[in-house]
Amino acid sequence: MNQHVRQASPDKLIKGAVDDWEVIIGLEIHAQVQSAAKLFSGAATAFGGEPNDHVSLVDAAMPGMLPVINAHCVEQAIRTGLGLKAAINLTSRFDRKNYFYPDLPQGYQISQYQMPIVGEGEVIVDMLSGERIVVGIERLHLEQDAGKSVHDLHPTMSYVDLNRSGVALMEIVSKPDLRSADEAKAYITKMRTILRYLGTSDADMEKGNLRADVNVSVRRPGEPFGTRCEIKNVNSIRFAGQAIDYEARRQIAILEDGGEIVQETRLFDAKTGETRSMRSKEEAHDYRYFPDPDLLPLVVAQDTVDAIRASLPELPDEKRARYVEDLGLTPYDASVLVTDVAASDFFEAVASGRDAKIAANWVINELFGRLNKEGFSIEASPVSAAQLGALLDLIASDTINGKTAKDVFEIIWSDGGEPAEIVESRGLKQVTDTSAIEAAVDEVIAANPEKAEQAKAKPNLAGWFVGQVMKATGGKANPKAVQGIVRAKLGVE
Ligand code: ADP
Ligand code: MG
Repeated sequence: MNQHVRQASPDKLIKGAVDDWEVIIGLEIHAQVQSAAKLFSGAATAFGGEPNDHVSLVDAAMPGMLPVINAHCVEQAIRTGLGLKAAINLTSRFDRKNYFYPDLPQGYQISQYQMPIVGEGEVIVDMLSGERIVVGIERLHLEQDAGKSVHDLHPTMSYVDLNRSGVALMEIVSKPDLRSADEAKAYITKMRTILRYLGTSDADMEKGNLRADVNVSVRRPGEPFGTRCEIKNVNSIRFAGQAIDYEARRQIAILEDGGEIVQETRLFDAKTGETRSMRSKEEAHDYRYFPDPDLLPLVVAQDTVDAIRASLPELPDEKRARYVEDLGLTPYDASVLVTDVAASDFFEAVASGRDAKIAANWVINELFGRLNKEGFSIEASPVSAAQLGALLDLIASDTINGKTAKDVFEIIWSDGGEPAEIVESRGLKQVTDTSAIEAAVDEVIAANPEKAEQAKAKPNLAGWFVGQVMKATGGKANPKAVQGIVRAKLGVE
């Protein structure tokens, strides 16, 4: 199926005052290349540092300076292209995109226009609903970042910080295949995951090394694409969703009012949650693109591409498939676990030599649940994979039951310690001794003779007795044993 004609399911349509509307979204993601040096100079790319500390004469555009391509950045772009299942162009070219800005000392940005290093590819996005969408990639090209203007340090002057000037960016352009804010958010999340697996970008939106330009248009289902607006430089996934929702509704209101959408560049204001006009849309010819005469065409050997392909790690889609097919996890659990390399590494350490489904259940529900509540990352987890694994072993060997395990988990979370020692020293071992359980069951039945009588007609009441016995044994009895004995003594099947 041609994804360009992909139609949103009815539940994704937006209700206007008159009609239902489909929102069409295409994203341009700018990802800072993971590299110690800039794209055309040896200056450092380190985050932070004093303003203008990481600026070579090339980055400052001193007359006569010549750019020299950084081979590592080229390899990173190829690696990313391969991760996006995209065509690699063995010959590509750098062009000058001319515009004036105080933080752009060259007066142009070196970018790739007609011949990008990476061509068409695709990204699979698994929605939490279970729906799987395929988003086409139009291209990926390399370009320089600009510097930064600082307007809030002096009452009458602006400063320019060129630390970022010349840092390598990959611009990844999607096809207009996304059909809702949720899909766009899931796509950015997936792109971030892929870039991190590949090690080609930190993809950290908070540090500004992943930014998105969000293109939005609306149409009545079945109609041709409408005119789009581009919302520039959105720097969080949540903001991208808000910007799309606001922009779609703005366009629908105009169209239902009989108006027309003007193609333009807009900005998202995080304070108001609204988009506002920044400038009318610039066209490619406004930039007077031409091949940069300081740089030869970029020619990459097929061997280089093959070597990079051979060094690719297991990517999230493959890992997810392995978790489902080999480990028997649900697609949902597998998707959650593969989102973050550290999370899947943690899970694999816990699951190794154990029941993978139980391990996934504990990692996702107990550990992630607790980490999210405290705002901790997996790296900062107070419970290690070894501790969680040892805890699961105690359940598997019937030393403790599931309920006690949760208590022990809490103890490790706050005080640390080895699960087996905690169980031993606190006397948390499961009561499997049937005579002890039998005694407890007898006591509860003797104390509740009418209920025991009723249970003969209403076998569901057995559950109540099980609960009472568990309570009486301090939650330590083996629930299966309790159930069996209760049912036998009550005479219910
Ligand atoms: P430009 O260089 O003007 O930004 P591109 O052709 O590179 O134009 O496209 C920019 C982005 O706009 C792409 O991500 C593309 O998917 C998206 N796009 C194109 N047409 C539409 C549309 N009608 N609605 C929403 N997005 C669109
Ligand atoms: Mg654009």
